[in-house]
Amino acid sequence: MTRSPVWHAFTQHGLQDPIPLITRGEGAWLYGAVGERWLDAISSWWVTTHGHCHPKIMAAIRAQTEALDQLIFAGWTHEPAETLAHALVALAPEPLNYCFFSDSGSTSVEVALKMALGYWRARNEPRHRIIVLEHSYHGDTIGAMSVGARGVYNQAYAPLLFDVATVPFPRGDGQNTLDALAAACCAPAKPAAFIVEPLILGAGGMLVYGADVLRAMREICAAHGVLFILDEVMTAWGRTGTMFACEQAGIAPDIMCLSKGLTGGALPLAATLATEAIYDAHYSANRADMFYHSSSYTANPIACAAANANLAIWAEEPVHKRIAALAEMQATRLAALTSPRLINKRQCGTINAMDVASDTPGYLDNIGPRMAAAFRARGLLLRPMGNVIYVMPPYCVTADELDLVYAAIAEVVG
Ligand SMILES: *Cc1c(COP(=O)(O)O)cnc(C)c1O
Repeated sequence: MTRSPVWHAFTQHGLQDPIPLITRGEGAWLYGAVGERWLDAISSWWVTTHGHCHPKIMAAIRAQTEALDQLIFAGWTHEPAETLAHALVALAPEPLNYCFFSDSGSTSVEVALKMALGYWRARNEPRHRIIVLEHSYHGDTIGAMSVGARGVYNQAYAPLLFDVATVPFPRGDGQNTLDALAAACCAPAKPAAFIVEPLILGAGGMLVYGADVLRAMREICAAHGVLFILDEVMTAWGRTGTMFACEQAGIAPDIMCLSKGLTGGALPLAATLATEAIYDAHYSANRADMFYHSSSYTANPIACAAANANLAIWAEEPVHKRIAALAEMQATRLAALTSPRLINKRQCGTINAMDVASDTPGYLDNIGPRMAAAFRARGLLLRPMGNVIYVMPPYCVTADELDLVYAAIAEVVG
């Protein structure tokens, strides 16, 4: 058998699972070459917010290709990035007043960690320890893996990952987490920062915790002078019901990571927003104190144009209404799933998740890919994580389309 040279992400090619070829996307649907179609119920890995090929984003990309494709972003600038940075700073909670561009969620996290360490170095108080929350996921580069949960995804690289202080995931009122966080903040080797995904941990299994715990985490970090980094790579752009998840806790971090829905999911782009204190720590007349980071495609003009079009959609279309309606449609359908095999049903804004109970752990290992195949056969793109089924559709999804998703879940689980 001849093998394709394409080496896919998170794919065991040795299992010979079929890999559908997609030629077109429109709204919530993905189309194959001969007319087959799949409902994209996970927003193509959490990025597609308004639907595939939104006309305004596609038009903005086309227009930008007529003007400027790419520009070195060290010492040079362009209008799409200037416009976008101003808009992001205006949109983000005070006092996040500076915007550093990169190209993926993982790099936005690397940038956040480097900003935090640079801040403490500039204050002549070098700190290197990072506090993280149990079950977290922040990306697949070495630094991002280091601040994420250790598991099968990264065990081959474990010797290379730096040590972190881990606080347990909130139980009940979350006091277990808050006590551990306060203790970690007081460690003799003072930590530089605490990084956390607000309200819902994505790749860790769509685990939800309350806004009150998030607010208390922020207060503890502030009280102990530990920088508070929010990884909003998945949670931003309406997923949790508000533009940014941190709004629900009425808090602002010192550093915030954005990517995924930043361009509406059309092109890779990321932004790390920071406070003036972080920016000022790197601001001086001495070249040696600058922030040493760049990606070749930092602030790519076409990607920035797509992001500006995304922001225009938020301003011009009833996106907040769509999100509220989707959250409600999700709630009724989750409640209507009555199979005793579906446990820990949970919702965070537009995201629904549930665990499939199983008393045969051997089967459990394989349950995710088997369910994914069953959904694929039913015209759905759903990709359970182990035994966790989650539904995170683009906001254009209709009630009827959502019904297809839940009918398939009931059938496949049954
Ligand atoms: C997806 C994700 C990342 C990594 O983003 P990439 O663009 O895949 O590098 C980081 N943090 C969170 C919370 C994510 O969901």
